[in-house]
Amino acid sequence: MVRAIVGANWGDEGKGKITDMLAKESDIIIRFQGGSNAGHTIINDYGKFALHILPSGVFYDHTTSIIGNGVALNIPYLVGELKDITSKGVPMPRILVSDRAQIMMPYHILFDTYEEARLAGRSFGSTKSGIAPFYSDKYAKIGFQVCELFGDETALMEKLENVCALKNVLLEHLYHKPLLDPKELFDTMMEYKEMIAPYVCDVSRYLHDALKEGKNILLEGQLGSLKDPDHGIYPMVTSSSTLAAYGAIGAGIPPYEIKNITTVVKAYSSAVGAGAFVSEIFGDEADELRRRGGDGGEFGATTGRPRRMGWFDAVATRYGCRIQGTTEAVLTVLDVLGYLDEIPICVGYEIDGKITRDFPTTPDLERAKPVYKTLPGWKCEIRGIKKYEELPENCRKYVETIEEELGVPVTMVSNGPGRDDIIFRR
Ligand code: GDP
Repeated sequence: MVRAIVGANWGDEGKGKITDMLAKESDIIIRFQGGSNAGHTIINDYGKFALHILPSGVFYDHTTSIIGNGVALNIPYLVGELKDITSKGVPMPRILVSDRAQIMMPYHILFDTYEEARLAGRSFGSTKSGIAPFYSDKYAKIGFQVCELFGDETALMEKLENVCALKNVLLEHLYHKPLLDPKELFDTMMEYKEMIAPYVCDVSRYLHDALKEGKNILLEGQLGSLKDPDHGIYPMVTSSSTLAAYGAIGAGIPPYEIKNITTVVKAYSSAVGAGAFVSEIFGDEADELRRRGGDGGEFGATTGRPRRMGWFDAVATRYGCRIQGTTEAVLTVLDVLGYLDEIPICVGYEIDGKITRDFPTTPDLERAKPVYKTLPGWKCEIRGIKKYEELPENCRKYVETIEEELGVPVTMVSNGPGRDDIIFRR
């Protein structure tokens, strides 16, 4: 059985925690898109970790963790992250990397940095991890698959010369930066080859067999629905699909094998980077929610920058769940809201005097104003509660209002960052 764990919002919903928790019952956990540009914060028996490229199943010794072909594979970063967790006492996890995954090249990171600097005030708020240049090259068919490291070295050198010729025009005339040297890149790639060799595998073949044997497989998404390049807030999106459907492609499994789409929904909103954010709040109100949010404030796991904050947005989240194909939802960070007297929920958008419950395309989204409904707060600590019925009545009302707005069952409520801070509803 394949279960996807994906985000309904702008990312940072708590997918890492839910994956780490559900990995206990799973055999294989796969990253299928994105790269090291966003982080999952996980708190478990080994301590607190910010994983960027490793799947959140690496903390168990019965699991296999896979980097699928859809991932932007930063090889030194992967090796560094493995070293980091093992140095903190985590046993060396079993890792497989797809031979079709493409390699994040050093110049992708340079181009990301140069382009953000060139755009200055009009930038996308990139984490400068090379993601946009990487996926541009993949679809322009000038990327490098892992298998190419193990192929004909003359062909690899020729391809590098061709890529450098293209890149160097931009470096010289647009960015005015030092040029790339194909020989130097070739040497770097030979170092990458040595680093990645122990993990390389025909992943789709491996998964075909695993599915036949009835293994439990988790697909772990990065970011959320609203950052999807097709269905999100284009162009303020990421460069690979954040949707469960893409899990089939980015891992190499049949789409009909994905039976369960567990969509992680955050009890309030947060976002990083630029782009329309209808239920955004500012000033002291935002500072307080940011300070209390997550497990130690709402600050980027990769960059440390403060996240933008807002109230729960039912319009965006209902759309986010629909576009994922949600079969069940998990409501996270509910414990954070216990300080509020009352809690606004955005239930509609007003666009040019008309109220809609449908999530619009980007030009309309830029003009949308939030329509709020206010619910009473519960004014107490809910961490430690294990049974849904034991939550305060106003807290249950908040959960059930969200469930009604989303039109999908909320089967789990997360009331703390730890593995055991979870309430199962059905
Ligand atoms: P991801 O990228 O979706 O995995 O999310 P992040 O890890 O970037 O952000 C989620 C943050 O919220 C992390 O710091 C988690 O430890 C924390 N977190 C997850 N679930 C809960 C919860 O139910 N309550 C609290 N207080 N924090 C949570």
